Amino acid sequence: MPVSEFGLIKQFFTRPAQNRCTRLSVGDDCALLSVPEGYELAITTDTMVENVHFFPDVNPEQLAYKLLAVNLSDLASMGAEPIAVTLALTLPRVDDAWLLAFSKGLFALAGQYGVDLVGGDTTLGSLTLSIQAMGLVKKGKALKRSGAKAGDLICVTGSLGDAALGLKIKQGYNSDYASDALHRFNMPSPKVEQGLLLQGVANACIDISDGLAADLGHILESSQLGALLNYSDLPLSKGVKDYIKKQDEPFFPLSAGEDYQLCFTISPEKMMRLSMEYTCIGVIEQQQGLRLKHQSGEILDFKTQGYDHFKKEASK
Ligand SMILES: [Mg+2]
Repeated sequence: MPVSEFGLIKQFFTRPAQNRCTRLSVGDDCALLSVPEGYELAITTDTMVENVHFFPDVNPEQLAYKLLAVNLSDLASMGAEPIAVTLALTLPRVDDAWLLAFSKGLFALAGQYGVDLVGGDTTLGSLTLSIQAMGLVKKGKALKRSGAKAGDLICVTGSLGDAALGLKIKQGYNSDYASDALHRFNMPSPKVEQGLLLQGVANACIDISDGLAADLGHILESSQLGALLNYSDLPLSKGVKDYIKKQDEPFFPLSAGEDYQLCFTISPEKMMRLSMEYTCIGVIEQQQGLRLKHQSGEILDFKTQGYDHFKKEASK
């Protein structure tokens, strides 16, 4: 028997509030959040649709984790500390086991960051999931795409291409490094701590959702600058190196999406004071466009060919 919307939220999605900003959580027409003096509210939303963003056989626990992770990743890229989320669920049917697993995945990650689920909505229809996430950032200190400066170093957290390799594996590609890559694809970890460390230190920042070339491209467009990347400096796991070699797709890490690592630009002086793991992969230049110094020493100019070139190369 279908449960009422209120019953469903109460049964699966109500937990005691743990964040200091939550004044009123699930149970009224709106939630109430307080924003401490000197802070601004950063807000983002992301939707996932079955057969578009995930496979029908998806594990609901991993799906919830990933849905929250991609939202927290957007907050991280602005240097915001996550505080609360709302959840909109459209479900083809009410399936208690599915909902239990989904809520388990959601609260596993939410609990890690002291994030409260403060409201939601449920409807019947094709499986569609939305989260709106809210975070705190010190007034005027949010990391924006538009702040890069010529001479900045371009850095990334973690390694590139692993999630996209995970997707290839799900689609049938065989790799000796499947478990790491699948984990990166199924349960990306948002770089919340790194975003907070970069607040007020980095000049520009973005999370890598669509691939390094496209997302760095957003920084370059917003900042009206260009970049030179060093191919041999790209941080690549054994699995991704192996994939590139076997498939002869050197540009794969540039177009590979869903890594949810941070790409930031920072002055060399400030970089010296940065206490986190990262890799410098290039430099911001006055000359617009994206250039790539290949291992051979040759500089490939992608200014005229556009970022699609990477995609075409990578999907050969
Ligand atoms: Mg983003």
